[in-house]
Amino acid sequence: MNKNDLFELTITDMGTDGEGIGHYDGMTFFVKDALIGDVITARAIKLKKNYGYARVEEIKSPSTFRVEPKCPLHRRCGGCQIQALSYDKQLEFKNEKVRNNIIRIGGFDADFVDQIMLPVVGMDAPYRYRNKAQFPVGKDKDGNIVTGFYAARTHSIIPVEDCLLGVKENEEILDIVKEWMTENSVEPYNEEKHEGLVRHILIRYGFTSKEIMVCLIINGKTLPHSKALCERLAMIEGMTSISYNVNTEKTNVILGKETECIWGQPYISDTIHLRTYPDFDETEIGIQYQISPQSFYQVNPEQTEKLYSTALEFAGLTGNESVWDLYCGIGTISLFLSQKAKQVYGVEIVPQAIEDAKNNAKLNCITNAEFFVGKAEEVLPEFYDKAGENESDMLRPDVIVVDPPRKGCDEKCLDTMLKMLPERIVYVSCDSATLARDLKILCEGGYELKKVQVFDQFAHSVHVETVCLLSKKL
Ligand code: SAH
Repeated sequence: MNKNDLFELTITDMGTDGEGIGHYDGMTFFVKDALIGDVITARAIKLKKNYGYARVEEIKSPSTFRVEPKCPLHRRCGGCQIQALSYDKQLEFKNEKVRNNIIRIGGFDADFVDQIMLPVVGMDAPYRYRNKAQFPVGKDKDGNIVTGFYAARTHSIIPVEDCLLGVKENEEILDIVKEWMTENSVEPYNEEKHEGLVRHILIRYGFTSKEIMVCLIINGKTLPHSKALCERLAMIEGMTSISYNVNTEKTNVILGKETECIWGQPYISDTIHLRTYPDFDETEIGIQYQISPQSFYQVNPEQTEKLYSTALEFAGLTGNESVWDLYCGIGTISLFLSQKAKQVYGVEIVPQAIEDAKNNAKLNCITNAEFFVGKAEEVLPEFYDKAGENESDMLRPDVIVVDPPRKGCDEKCLDTMLKMLPERIVYVSCDSATLARDLKILCEGGYELKKVQVFDQFAHSVHVETVCLLSKKL
């Protein structure tokens, strides 16, 4: 076969990034935008020894799982990889992805994994679910200011006025910012030249509070003409916080370290209710949170309730326990745990998030949660080495909850967790490959995997969230 050859390909599988996989002439082909069950005319675009990449030239017979995507940009935009797949099949794909990683990377037996995996938890209506959006700002070829999303695997901006995963309010905010930039000759940032000012527009929307935050991420120390911008944005119902964040680095990381509030308050509030947690009624376990631009906050409120309910249920608290909540962000999980435990200790690397966590404890009159700034892999071993006998609560917690970023837990952190011998470990993960790697270490260290449940926090993307329960082997 040669590059650009056309051939018929039946898609029999899907890869972890949602790409279709088919076999032809002894070779495995990976095809973006092809779905399991499709029969396509493929065009070879890259050939290696026994595998290659191909493009969909024509769909000859569509998969029965194919649906009409709601967003016309779904193939170009890098945000949604599997919008053309029916939602039920998306859920199955995500569940299977976690299952495979636990078997393949974690080394667990397939029958055992099937026994402990609970049914995947999907959304009722999987659109307009995101409470946060970060739009890059740039110029199109005619010199007009555009905001949108990056095309898959690139940094070219596809103009998007209204992303169907985000809230409707985003559109008006983007229009105002673009208009203000044009009128005041405020330049968008140019990545290649490292010139221009406005890099990203971050928008957060509190689903329960209806409060809105807008933060402009800028390549500069001050925002010119900010009064004019604030005057217009303030007209939007629910506007609560306007700020800018300074990021003058040549980097792909969106946010810099300093944020300056220029209108309203430096945070928005939102409430999470655990309606699905068995022991509580709605009013008992609603917790209010203050969220700053730099703090992490789960992006899908509907699913977050279900996820946290399960994490709390897996923690199995009765009121006497001491609990570490590692990678605690603004204390979201910690404060739910604290309602059912004797004492909770949260650890988080972002100082601003810990400020939020402390404020959030106060705001909800919670006195049994303490928070520490630092890396989990440093803070935890330090406590373990230094804590005296009167701090046995911290040395010998009953439960440890972890919710690390995609790279998973550091080995030093896992090591210390094992030394602390908690009865239970609840692992919340946004990357099932690193989760599987860490589960292997914890199980080799004396723990048993008891339950695994997948939650669809990110419908139409290939990303997936998982909650696992481990308990100490008897
Ligand atoms: N449990 C929280 C946050 C989870 S996201 C919630 O559900 O809202 C993961 C968090 O880990 C982020 O807040 C991130 O800032 C933090 N983090 C990243 N690396 C860390 C490390 N090495 N030690 C502690 N926290 C870390």
